[in-house]
Amino acid sequence: MNDEIARPCRKSRVVQHTFVFAAILLITAVVLHLSGRVFWCQCGTCVPWSWDIWSQHNSQHLVDPYFFTHVLHGIALYGLLHWLWKSAPVSKRFWASILLEAGWEILENSPLIIERYREATISLDYYGDSIANSLFDIVACAAGFLLAARMKPSHSILLFLATELLLVLTIRDCLTLNVVMLVYPLDAIKDWQMAF
Ligand SMILES: [Zn+2]
Repeated sequence: MNDEIARPCRKSRVVQHTFVFAAILLITAVVLHLSGRVFWCQCGTCVPWSWDIWSQHNSQHLVDPYFFTHVLHGIALYGLLHWLWKSAPVSKRFWASILLEAGWEILENSPLIIERYREATISLDYYGDSIANSLFDIVACAAGFLLAARMKPSHSILLFLATELLLVLTIRDCLTLNVVMLVYPLDAIKDWQMAF
């Protein structure tokens, strides 16, 4: 009997959460559109991915190497909020993470941060993410959070480090380098990345 009651409850909760998630994506898309972002890559092809970070397609399609740094955002936010806001249920921490990530996507695509990226990092031709790319980055963050919520902390840390290492080896960039170069750019790192 209890199971019969619990099942529709769980179902309606999933529907509710999906609706809230879609609403956050929609609001983010509207804000990004109003701030002048394009919906998709100017090339117009329907290919959902782009792997060359030096091409004009980077951050314009759904998935590119930086998609994985956004999965790491989710893992890091899970760890951070687990530490700072342990009293809150995991669902509250999940929504806090998604709102933070959506806020970051809007800030990341503001003229201030776009200029900062272009000046201080290897993103010389960076003119902001496409809206579709930003929305998928939020999906990546949600996936990272949900993964971390189901994994042992040691496995999350291993996954985080392995992803960072793989990104450094393949594109000479990763979440850690991204943060360092945004906050405290170092010429030595920039030269090393540009020599790739
Ligand atoms: Zn393209």
